[in-house]
Formats: sequence, structure tokens, C-alpha cells
Amino acid sequence: MCRHLAYLGPPVTLRELLLDPPHSLLRQSWAPRDMRGGGTINADGFGVGWYPDSGPPVRYRRAQPIWTDPTIADLAAVTSTTAVLAAVRSATVGMAVVDAAAAPFAEGRWLFSHNGVVRGWPDSIVPLAAELPVRDLLTLDATTDSALLWALVRHRLRAGLDPARAVAETVTSVAAAAPGSRLNLLLTDGRTVVASAFGHALSLRATADSVLLSSEPHDDEPGWREVPQGHLVRANATEVHRQALGVAVVPDQ
Ligand code: GLN
Repeated sequence: MCRHLAYLGPPVTLRELLLDPPHSLLRQSWAPRDMRGGGTINADGFGVGWYPDSGPPVRYRRAQPIWTDPTIADLAAVTSTTAVLAAVRSATVGMAVVDAAAAPFAEGRWLFSHNGVVRGWPDSIVPLAAELPVRDLLTLDATTDSALLWALVRHRLRAGLDPARAVAETVTSVAAAAPGSRLNLLLTDGRTVVASAFGHALSLRATADSVLLSSEPHDDEPGWREVPQGHLVRANATEVHRQALGVAVVPDQ
């Protein structure tokens, strides 16, 4: 069920962050340790978004297993950045497998990813989707639950909500409309990051000047902490805050 990560801190190469660690995101694509709710490997695409020195983030996304991509290793070796959001995807049955369905989804400085599933898709979510402008529905990135969740978060960001509230409101409203959903969301603008642990594992490692949020720890070094279920993390490179979402997590399988 997808694995994702976000990093903020001193410059690192994408290779150091995504490919080199013993249990890197690359390895998690074919040998994840903690898949929940179905799915065994993450072979339906991958995406990386990173922040150049100025301007909006750059994305590289493909609808193929990350280990079969001929370009990512070379690109990752020469790309250094202070902020990254990356994901490997295991598509939910029936959902599109196309480049545009791979996270990160983006607008302006925002990058977004979803690890999980909206239960009862699409019927369960119709009442919430009806809140969105028709234009947003007609221009969804892909016909997937994750793309719709991004449209719901983005709608709140455009309305001026702060990112933690945009994510918290989206998780609580979708959990109510589609009980049993798994809603691990990840949102960054390159300076702050917001992440929910709601139905899937999420680990955090913070140092004095960096923060790394990841579905699974990517090495056996000390310092990883598991984010408790039903919680939201809001962090920048030097500070981490955690709050309860106030909604029970009840994944249905
Ligand atoms: N349900 C989403 C998709 O199909 C996310 C998948 C996941 O977490 N496996 O894209």
C-alpha cells in the first residue's frame, strides 16, 4: 500500500536519501516490511519531488517499478536538495496505473502524497467531492482516491487554511464519510511538513537540523520513533509537534 517519505534539512543527494540506505525507499518498493491492508510490493509507479535553489519543486514520476527505471539512479546521484517528498506506489485494485497517478501531486510549492485507500470508492466519497468546484473534478490528476484526496486538501489550502488544518480536516471528514479508510497523508512546501498516521505505519527521525518522516525506518540506526495511530505531525527542520486527530482509526482489513 505505497510507501512514502518526506525530508527537510541540510542538503542531501536523492541517492543518499532514497537509494543508499539499507532499507531505502528503493528497497521498500520490492521488500517492504510493514504492508497493511493488502498489497505485497510497490511496483505500480514512483515519484520524487524536490526543491531547487529557487522556484517551485521539480518532479520525476513514472508508472513503472522504480527498480526498472533507467534514469533515476543517475538523476539521484547528481541532485542535491534540502527538501524532498517521494513515494513508491502499489495501486489499489481498479485504479489507474499512469504516471499522473504517482505521488507527489503538486501545486505551486506544495507536494502531496497519500498512502492508503478510501473505502467504498467512489460512492462513499461523492458527498465530499460535491464540495469541490466542478473544474477541480474535471482536472483531477488521475481517477484515483489519492488524486481526489489531494483535490480536497488543495481546496482547503487555496481557501487559506494552514496546512495542518487542511490535512486534519480532510482526514477526519473522509474517515467519517468512508469508514475503514487508511489515510496516511504527507504534505510539504519545502519548509514545513505535515503527516498523518491513520491506518498505516509512519516513523519519524529528527535531528537538531533535520526531520525525516517515512512509512518505514530506512535503516537500523537509533533515533526512529513510530508516530502513534490517529496522530498528526507538523514539523520543520528544527521543530516537531504532534497532535491527536481525535478520530478513531478503524481500518477494515
Ligand atoms: N489508493 C491509492 C492508489 O491506488 C494509494 C495506494 C497505496 O497506498 N497503495 O493510488
